[in-house]
Amino acid sequence: APRVFSGIQPTADSFHLGNYLGALRQWVALQDSHDAFYCVVDLHAITVEHDPALLRHRSRVSAAQLLAMGIDQERSTLFVQSQVPEHAELAWVLGCLTGFGEAGRMTQFKDKSAKQGTSATTVGLFTYPVLMASDILLYTPEPGAGARLEVPVGEDQRQHLELTRTLAQRFNHRFGDTFVLPDGYIPKTAAKITDLQEPTVKMSKSASSPQGIVDLLEEPGPLRKKIMRAVTDTGTEVRYDEAEKPGVTNLMRIFAALDGTTPDAIEARYAGSGYGQFKKDLAAIVVDALTPIRERTQALLADEDELDKLLARGAERASAVASRTMEIVRDRVGFVGRGR
Ligand code: ATP
Ligand code: MG
Repeated sequence: APRVFSGIQPTADSFHLGNYLGALRQWVALQDSHDAFYCVVDLHAITVEHDPALLRHRSRVSAAQLLAMGIDQERSTLFVQSQVPEHAELAWVLGCLTGFGEAGRMTQFKDKSAKQGTSATTVGLFTYPVLMASDILLYTPEPGAGARLEVPVGEDQRQHLELTRTLAQRFNHRFGDTFVLPDGYIPKTAAKITDLQEPTVKMSKSASSPQGIVDLLEEPGPLRKKIMRAVTDTGTEVRYDEAEKPGVTNLMRIFAALDGTTPDAIEARYAGSGYGQFKKDLAAIVVDALTPIRERTQALLADEDELDKLLARGAERASAVASRTMEIVRDRVGFVGRGR
């Protein structure tokens, strides 16, 4: 089976509906067709100032949510990045193959550092894409006919994936064929979800207001309220129209994704009935979809030792692959082996 690698940062107390419908739900589906490696990337989370206790908590919550939505340690490998030190080691090697100007062209760095100002911007934020490249390339299959390494990415990560391919190619060229070039793709079922209060911008952990974002761990009461208060557009028609009706269109996208239906079917169902019933039904659908995730997450977090053990198992399997890749890398780069 082709390999797939994907990571997510533990930078909030909960993932949100955009993370779920745009990325994480596809992770669950890929387990059956792929040899999947999924990573809670806590090393990436310290590129901005952070609180240690909060980071540890958020890493566990993130992992628990992934397990709660159906990532299964028997069918895939779920682990916490910092438990596999090869991520940082390969990042050093790849960083030495990355041009300073090349890294400086990454638009995400330019955006984030412009917001933070130069004194708050760390070298870690600058080299973030190199760490991301090493996250992916550590899990390369052996190069050869039919070897595939796939990376589901959002639009915002495209440039980083392109850099990853460039670095893999550069390494292969200088030191011998080592890495399969990863293929990025935007999964067909991925839906871009926008802010409930500002439906023309994406729902985001860092930018959305509490009323604009739906956390996966939200209780049913507040959840229903949020959906009912979501910004809709003038008019009364439930119609899929990105330009004229971004609010309703976003809600229809959520409805379709969670209910396994299409915008056309939703339009037909609510023809002539206005926004009220539509929103009420949507609220029920969202509550039904998120309740089991919330409950399972809470159950997993109630036994921290057990959760940590489960994650340690993932780290062990990830380490087996990562250490093999690094042995080859060290040898090809010219480091002296310890012998046996
Ligand atoms: P931040 O604001 O810190 O960038 P975020 O909410 O954008 O956080 P990320 O951790 O950057 O979340 O993204 C995790 C995954 O979720 C990525 O694959 C990203 O493409 C996807 N994603 C994030 N927001 C949305 C959204 N609104 N709709 C669809 N997919 C999303
Ligand atoms: Mg983001």
